[in-house]
Amino acid sequence: AAMVKETIRVYARVKPLGRRQQAGSYSVDVEEEPLSSLEITVPRDLADGFVNNKRESYKFKFQKIFDQEAKQDVVFDSIAKPVAECVLAGYNGTVFAYGQTGSGKTFTITGGAERYSDRGIIPRTLSYIFDQLQKDSSKVYTTHVSYLEIYNECGYDLLDPRHEASRLEDLPKVTIMEDSDQNIHLKNLSLQQATNEEEALNLLFLGDTNRMIAETPMNQASSRSHCIFTIHISSKEPGSATIRRSKLHLVDLAGSERVAKTGVGGHLLTEAKYINLSLHYLEQVIIALAEKNRSHIPYRNSMMTSVLRDSLGGNCMTTMIATLALDKRNIDESISTCRFAQRVALIKNEAILNEEIDPRLMIVQLKKEIQDLKDELELVTGKQRTTELSQEELLQLNDLIETFLKDNDPDSTLDVGADMRKIKYCFAHMKQLMNHPTTSDKKLLSQDIPEEDTNNETGEELEKLKELLQQRDNEINNILVNMLKKEKKKAQDALFQLNATSAGSTVLERSLSINLEERQSPSSCFSLKEAKEFSSSVHRLPFLFRQTGGRMSLGCQEAFEVFQQDHADSITIEDNKRLLKQRFAEVKCLGEKLNEVRSKINHLKGEITQRHIQRAALAVSNPSEELNMMDPVEKKLRMQIEEEKKSYKTMFSRFKGLKVEIEHLQLLMEKVKMKMQKDFEVWWSEEAKNLQQEKPEMVTSPNTVTVYPQFIKSSQHLSTSSFSETIKVSSNEDPAGKNNSMTFSNRTLKTSTPPSSTTPIPLTGDSQADADILAFIKARERILQKKG
Ligand code: ADP
Ligand code: MG
Repeated sequence: AAMVKETIRVYARVKPLGRRQQAGSYSVDVEEEPLSSLEITVPRDLADGFVNNKRESYKFKFQKIFDQEAKQDVVFDSIAKPVAECVLAGYNGTVFAYGQTGSGKTFTITGGAERYSDRGIIPRTLSYIFDQLQKDSSKVYTTHVSYLEIYNECGYDLLDPRHEASRLEDLPKVTIMEDSDQNIHLKNLSLQQATNEEEALNLLFLGDTNRMIAETPMNQASSRSHCIFTIHISSKEPGSATIRRSKLHLVDLAGSERVAKTGVGGHLLTEAKYINLSLHYLEQVIIALAEKNRSHIPYRNSMMTSVLRDSLGGNCMTTMIATLALDKRNIDESISTCRFAQRVALIKNEAILNEEIDPRLMIVQLKKEIQDLKDELELVTGKQRTTELSQEELLQLNDLIETFLKDNDPDSTLDVGADMRKIKYCFAHMKQLMNHPTTSDKKLLSQDIPEEDTNNETGEELEKLKELLQQRDNEINNILVNMLKKEKKKAQDALFQLNATSAGSTVLERSLSINLEERQSPSSCFSLKEAKEFSSSVHRLPFLFRQTGGRMSLGCQEAFEVFQQDHADSITIEDNKRLLKQRFAEVKCLGEKLNEVRSKINHLKGEITQRHIQRAALAVSNPSEELNMMDPVEKKLRMQIEEEKKSYKTMFSRFKGLKVEIEHLQLLMEKVKMKMQKDFEVWWSEEAKNLQQEKPEMVTSPNTVTVYPQFIKSSQHLSTSSFSETIKVSSNEDPAGKNNSMTFSNRTLKTSTPPSSTTPIPLTGDSQADADILAFIKARERILQKKG
């Protein structure tokens, strides 16, 4: 198989400086083709303390350096696209980002959460790969994705649907299994089929969301965990049994920051320790690989190095991006990152073409070949052939053999004709005669035995053999059928899961993909409403559902709305909403225009037909005219049609582009919304805790919550066991004392005991709702105070 030997390509990307950050001193030099170099100068004040040796300037070489202003598309084009191309050709590929927390790993690999143009390497790679697959009709492709998170040396399947409902530690762990050929297999990591870009993006989004859900302030998963998004591609030419399989790992590593070891006298030493153990093992593997004549590479020390074994010094095209935050405070971490990168650049990989033969396809192919040959033989001999010789033929052969053996003439031959079955039988029979002369003697002597008996005996034996053969045949068939059934079931399961996760998107799909060839009536135009419904239907409040067992109380909902307005991300949401609206309008407009152009084309076609009819009529009345000549009117009409088609095509590709953008924007918005809900959840439970601590007497028992009358302006509303009016917070609860009335319209509070205005009102009906209201009142106050 073809093999490509290459060192790991190492790139650097410098993150834009924050507004309040002080720039560190560095320079990028691209003159030394083909490599670029990055020179970092350590300021004197730092050089004394942080960096142990006396050097002040450090120079590192990279394949290419992307400075602060480099955009995502450029980064994708030069870093990930070449790897994706190799993967499409059947080689394995890996792109991994390495750098301290906050240096832009996630931004580079996955993308920013705000703008469409900020989408990172994963969505761009998916887009590129599916585009290429669509263009290539010479092969049949299947694509799957998996998304693995490694946290604390444990692997989790980010695409596991149970993620939403359970805690991280309750999920089945992904474990490593090694087969006899030392290939790594990952147990409990699902491979989800993705037939197009949209399905793959949905899976990416699902995984990112699950990652976010699992993260709590206690486990800073996003900086301490490694995420490996893998695209699996298999391809096959139609009719061929050879399959090419390749994998593309897109890896967002844990933050590379180290804990500085404090030396004697409080001095900081350069050789600091990783916070993350797997990164420590990664570095060991890399050091081992860079050393010459080193035979043992400690891949097995950690889960991550096991999973990435092929990517590091193995069968893979590998690329690393060192992400750097080159402000003054992060200079030393950046130097560490660059040093690591220099070592990685020494590793040689050998990527081989991953081709294999599918035994099932092979069987099918061989069976077909046999049938073809049989047919051909039948044609040539003019005789039908079965696999077995008939009894008559066998007897005939026995006779021939016997005669042949008895014949002492050295020139005698055994001629059975050009029939492999007969030739084989003769050899087998003679072998038997040689090995068992006694039985064969008997057989040879069997001439004396009446013919009928012999016939019966061989007949029975033959029947038995036939039965046995039939039995074996059935067994083989059963195995094959079971194999196929299993595969089918697997495929269906995967499909089912996929449908379950992306059920909402089909609505959008339906509404966006107007198939203009089929559309006839203008009433079936693009539906804006449908698409909008979709955008609000995906993934609603998974966290709160989880916490309250499927329901979010009303007070809590109301508080959430207030919280939402106050949240920093609401600006992003609003911006994106506006953009989305604009895009929807554009798509709608384009859809209408496309329909228009289509009807125009149809109209022109109609005109041409009319013209034909006219000309035909003219030909009848006036023969011999210049009928063979091209009608100039028709020519003009045709040209017009061509023009319209051209504009149709450009509009349609723009339409498709917009569709992808809309989907992406929707996913981004959902992500931000979910983040907000998560923040809210944390804040909400804290508020509830605070409230309980401040006013313990309010909660008398878990089931009876008392509301002080001063909270409620007119208590008689409560006696009707529902209130849909205004609740006023009394002035001693609210120092501002104004503009803080809240309307609970159509909210129902069940009360079992009639309230009295002198004693605290027990609201025992729904303690959750009662507590929510109290907490809400409190929460709103806090927000108002915060807002000043
Ligand atoms: P990491 O994953 O390495 O911890 P992030 O990718 O989360 O870092 O980046 C930290 C912050 O910096 C994020 O808010 C991100 O949007 C922003 N950021 C990182 N790189 C860039 C860049 N090249 N351009 C603009 N913003 C960036
Ligand atoms: Mg990150």
